Amino acid sequence: MISENTQARSPLIEKGRVVGLFIAGRDQEHAQRGKVLVDATGRINSLVSKLQKTEPKRAAYVAFKSHLTDTGCEKEACEIYFFRGGYGGVNFVENSLTNLCFMVESSKARSLGNDPERILQELVLTNPRARETLSHYRLKSDWISTAFNLDISRKPDVQGLINVGDALAFNDPFTGTGILMALESGELAASQILHHLRTNSELEPDYYEFHQKTFRARLRLSSLLRSIAFGPVFLSEGLVFLLNSSTVLREFLFRSTRQG
Ligand SMILES: Cc1cc2nc3c(=O)[nH]c(=O)nc-3n(C[C@H](O)[C@H](O)[C@H](O)COP(=O)(O)OP(=O)(O)OC[C@H]3O[C@@H](n4cnc5c(N)ncnc54)[C@H](O)[C@@H]3O)c2cc1C
Repeated sequence: MISENTQARSPLIEKGRVVGLFIAGRDQEHAQRGKVLVDATGRINSLVSKLQKTEPKRAAYVAFKSHLTDTGCEKEACEIYFFRGGYGGVNFVENSLTNLCFMVESSKARSLGNDPERILQELVLTNPRARETLSHYRLKSDWISTAFNLDISRKPDVQGLINVGDALAFNDPFTGTGILMALESGELAASQILHHLRTNSELEPDYYEFHQKTFRARLRLSSLLRSIAFGPVFLSEGLVFLLNSSTVLREFLFRSTRQG
């Protein structure tokens, strides 16, 4: 059964185990029972967060995105810019549009009134290459923004509920692989659920172990890259220098954000 225009409210718990879900429709809420509940609600992880005893953390980062014209971004290029308190980048979309996306520490964004134009001018464009590429840019769409944390894993500690995609691990936008990871973890969850239903084995330990094996290396690498991006300038400049001077290293880094 597929329920549209409904909201998943909270897990239904009996004897310490998740056995279903409270669903809110247009005018009423009802409980839906099921053998396994999968939280795929993205980085707000609506269902798992209902079970957490601690207060949710304040978002540490904020990201902005918009489409531009009149930039110097080449068709095949993806430019990444490091700057104090964040990083960002551009890539060509189509019809002379360039996609611009950047991420900054929330405290930095707040100090600039959470105003994307100011953040662009006062932080992103301190990067010389960004200044060159975006010197004549024109905004072609509204700004989209989102605030978030980047925990390496948000595993629920209860039987009967697993999470997939961003609800479990939100990977750094830097890698451009969030959608891939969400699809891969969905596939992994589906195969583990089938195995669990056929063999009556425990689902959660096996699923999370496979998830760790599949994604740990790339999540750790993203976390390391983020530390460099938000760390002292000489670190990010050193990394850019190394990547500029070695195709092998660039290809290795690219592949490592997508596997292992
Ligand atoms: C600034 C930025 C740039 C990014 N750029 C890229 C990129 O270039 N390439 C890339 O691959 N990834 C990128 N990502 C990441 C990518 O968007 C996510 O990793 C991906 O969408 C995760 O998929 P998901 O299905 O887990 O979650 P989502 O896509 O977030 O889907 C979750 C869905 O659940 C719904 N939902 C939430 N709560 C409830 C509820 N209680 N009841 C019912 N429905 C609910 C939401 O409305 C949403 O539709 C970017 C992310 C950010 C923030």
